[in-house]
Formats: sequence, C-alpha cells, structure tokens
Amino acid sequence: LIAFLLYLFYLVAPIGQLVQGFTQMQNGLAAVKRIREIEDLPTEEIGGQAAETGTAPAGVAFQDVVFRYGDDRPVVHDGVSFEIPARGLTALVGPSGAGKSTVFALLERFYEQQSGTITMDGRDIRQWRLPDLRAALGYVEQDAPVLDGTLRENLLFAAQGAGEADIRRVLSLTRLEDLVARLPEGLETEVGHRGIMLSGGERQRVAIARALLRRPRLLLLDEATSQLDAVNELRLREVIAEVAKETTVLVIAHRLSTVTSADRIVVMEAGGVRAVGTHGELLADDDLYRELAATQFLLPT
Ligand code: ATP
Repeated sequence: LIAFLLYLFYLVAPIGQLVQGFTQMQNGLAAVKRIREIEDLPTEEIGGQAAETGTAPAGVAFQDVVFRYGDDRPVVHDGVSFEIPARGLTALVGPSGAGKSTVFALLERFYEQQSGTITMDGRDIRQWRLPDLRAALGYVEQDAPVLDGTLRENLLFAAQGAGEADIRRVLSLTRLEDLVARLPEGLETEVGHRGIMLSGGERQRVAIARALLRRPRLLLLDEATSQLDAVNELRLREVIAEVAKETTVLVIAHRLSTVTSADRIVVMEAGGVRAVGTHGELLADDDLYRELAATQFLLPT
C-alpha cells in the first residue's frame, strides 16, 4: 500500500507543479498584457503630456493624505494637509517616528497614499511620468557618503552632462570654493577612503552640490545630525538659505539654526501635522515645538 501511495504521490506532484507553473505563466502573461495596455494608452492617461523639463521652483501641496505601509494602522493619518509655496525654505520637525521621512518617500513616489492628493505645481504627482517627477526632485540624505574617487567625479556622479560653468556655480553656492582651493589637486583630488577625508559638514555640502547640478525644482534635504564646528555650521546654514532663494527646499531639520531661518515650519507628531508657523509663532503657540526647540535642537547654532 505504501509503495502504491508513494507511486500516486510521484504521479500527482508533477501535475501540481504543472498547474502551479501554468498559473504563474498566466500571471506573467497578465502582467505583460497590462504593460502593453499601459504602453498603448494615449500619453495623457499615464500623465505623459508636457514633460516637466523646466527648472522653475515647484510648489507642493498635501491634501487630506492618509498612508499606511502595510496592513497596519496608518502611519500618516488624520488627513495630512500642508502647503509649500514655490521657492523658500520649509522645515519639517517632529519627534522620531512622526512621519517626516515618510513625507519624503511619498513625494518621491516610493509609496502611494491610500487617500488624499499630493500635488506639485497644482498637478497630482500620480499624473506625472515617474522619470519626470524624479528628475524634478533632488534628494540629499542625512549622512551622504563621499564616494571613493575625485571630487569632480563625486559631483558629476548624477549629472554627467554638467559643464564647467555649472560646476563653478554650485561650488560657489555651496561655499566649497575654499575647500577646492585648499585641496592639492583641486577638483581632481582623490577624496573618500582612498584620498582626503572630508568633514561631516563638507560632505553634506558636496552632497548638496551634487544634487544641485541636476537643477532640482524641489530639493529634499535630510539635514546632517553629526556635530559640526562653528564655521561649518554657519556655512551649512548660509548654503541652505542661499539654495532656498533659487529653488524650493524642504528640509528635515535637526538644527536650531535651520528652523530659525526657515520661512515656515511644519510640526509633525505621530503621523499627523500638529502645527505650521514660523519659529517665533510656534514658540509662542505650540508646547511640543517649545519642547523640541529646547531638546532636539540643542545642536550648535
Ligand atoms: P525619524 O526622525 O526617527 O527618522 P520620522 O519622523 O522620519 O522619524 P518615519 O521614518 O517617517 O518617521 O516613520 C513613521 C512611522 O512609520 C514609524 O512608526 C516607522 O516605524 C514607520 N515606518 C517607516 N518606514 C517604514 C517601512 N518601510 N515599513 C513599515 N513601517 C515603516
């Protein structure tokens, strides 16, 4: 009997695999069909009209946005709404886990909200072609690494087509000219592990310069938390203020100097927007902000 059952198993198992394989093939075909359907849509229906090739600063608005990563409770709830006018500096602040990085991830469309809308220049970002959206955004991570290679390679990494004049412009904007003058071979100096190590503040300014070479219409900046000396702290503040004159800057702020110079501050708490205002207004009106200002932002100014 056992032999017969084993025989039956061997007979049935491949059939199961066949069925499974067929189902996978069906799913695969359905996916290919779906891609074809999307490819065949008139471009307007996938937001393909008017490629966003301009460089003008973009305005952003979140309206009643609710988002959850998985099946859990929403990470961003209560219908988050706030506006970021084109150009200028907007700071996002809030305790750890408040949802600041999630706001960045939604803007970059790494995830899609369950309800509500996010617009850039008045147009739902789901209507943008993804490459156009990503090209319009610059992102500077909190502790951006300097890659092994020359400083020039580090700058041109994501903007191969940038010319000498562009490089000079961003070096001036990010106050890196002094650094370049000090380096033995200027822009051709090896940096990173194989060459000269840059300080935390210099690394973040290199990352900002790299992002600016792509002429973003909205710069997302996760501010460095590493301790900076007074000179580098001042430089970083000047650079952020200067860049915000050229384009729209949304910064996750960890420094008092940044929030005091921001045009507006969005205070997040547990996935919701708690208050929006200037440093002075929020100090007067918001308990949580006062607490944050006294603790989280006790970094040097
Ligand atoms: P921090 O200042 O610590 O970086 P934050 O304000 O940026 O915090 P988020 O990183 O946006 O907060 O996280 C908001 C909430 O979403 C947290 O509860 C976090 O655990 C959760 N979360 C973040 N990323 C994911 C993910 N990829 N999958 C599931 N949950 C996530």
